[in-house]
Amino acid sequence: MPEQLSETLHFTKNWQQQLAEAFNNIENLCNYLNLPLNELSTSVNAAKNFPLRVPLSFAASMQKGDPNDPLLRQVLPIKDELILYPGYSNDPVGDLLSATQSGVLHKYHGRVLFINTGSCAINCRYCFRRNFPYQDFQLGKQDENKAIQFIHDNPNITEVILSGGDPLLLSDARLKQLFTQLNAIKHLKRIRIHSRLPIVLPARITHELTNILTQSTKQIIVVVHCNHANEINHRVIAAFNLLKNKDITLFNQSVLLKGVNDNATVLSNLSEQLFSHGVIPYYLHLLDKATGTGHFEVSESSAVAILNKLQAMLPGYLVPKLVKEQAGGVSKEPIHFL
Ligand SMILES: *Cc1c(COP(=O)(O)O)cnc(C)c1O
Ligand code: SF4
Repeated sequence: MPEQLSETLHFTKNWQQQLAEAFNNIENLCNYLNLPLNELSTSVNAAKNFPLRVPLSFAASMQKGDPNDPLLRQVLPIKDELILYPGYSNDPVGDLLSATQSGVLHKYHGRVLFINTGSCAINCRYCFRRNFPYQDFQLGKQDENKAIQFIHDNPNITEVILSGGDPLLLSDARLKQLFTQLNAIKHLKRIRIHSRLPIVLPARITHELTNILTQSTKQIIVVVHCNHANEINHRVIAAFNLLKNKDITLFNQSVLLKGVNDNATVLSNLSEQLFSHGVIPYYLHLLDKATGTGHFEVSESSAVAILNKLQAMLPGYLVPKLVKEQAGGVSKEPIHFL
């Protein structure tokens, strides 16, 4: 079948089918991108523990024939991942294991992180998740009920943050049940969803889903995870529109990544593109120092220099907050850049 036709056909399929057809090996992705394997520094070993995984919707936004494409760099297993850098570890923030055992992580005032699933539609090479054996775990119904009881019993919790993994990989039925339970908790004001699916698998954003999300009086916030303006294709824009039309507030968080977005012009384009489609830049994270990700590091001093430039290019509301994750803090640690 001609490539164009099979691609069009692919995007008419539902999100589960699109997910099942995601690229899962280096060779197929490189063939699709017209990239000769022997000219790239790919590594089968790097892909052993943390496989390549990338939906076609995301791959279709990559520049064919460009080995340095910023989207490709986020997902292609390369030899650099095998380099051991000092200061890098498997659980740099130190609380992931406990969180995925109980399903909840109550670290910051008024907000609780609720982790129902460790699965993602895409495997981002810079992610801490790469080092965890439970990448594909799902919280059992019993533990989920316990976590909900915990939120119920703590009236100072006003916001539940569904995180993961990617919470939107849960089925509609599962989400519906979860939202019904959360909606019944009176002291909750907001439900926030951190998801990369609007960017990497926008077919997940359906009318059925937005109806489930907005069936209550709680305010709904979706924080998408977009690192580069090239990720915002017309399918992504359609997903943003579905969410916006339901009065869902949209924010974006990015990770500052060497060779992807470590440049003020790239970040400025990202903010402009996001905002033109109704998404407000929220956080720009410094990399969590997870084993295998050192080649993505942008030093704190370079980050500050980039942000100073960015600040001079954009209105203040389009400049994301530069932060890093720290163990034991009362919030994410702001990095001051002026
Ligand atoms: C990031 C994070 C939050 C949310 O923090 P905000 O500053 O409200 O976005 C909440 N809990 C945990 C454990 C987090 O890591
Ligand atoms: S948690 Fe986010 S950054 Fe990590 S692999 Fe999943 S989508 Fe990518």
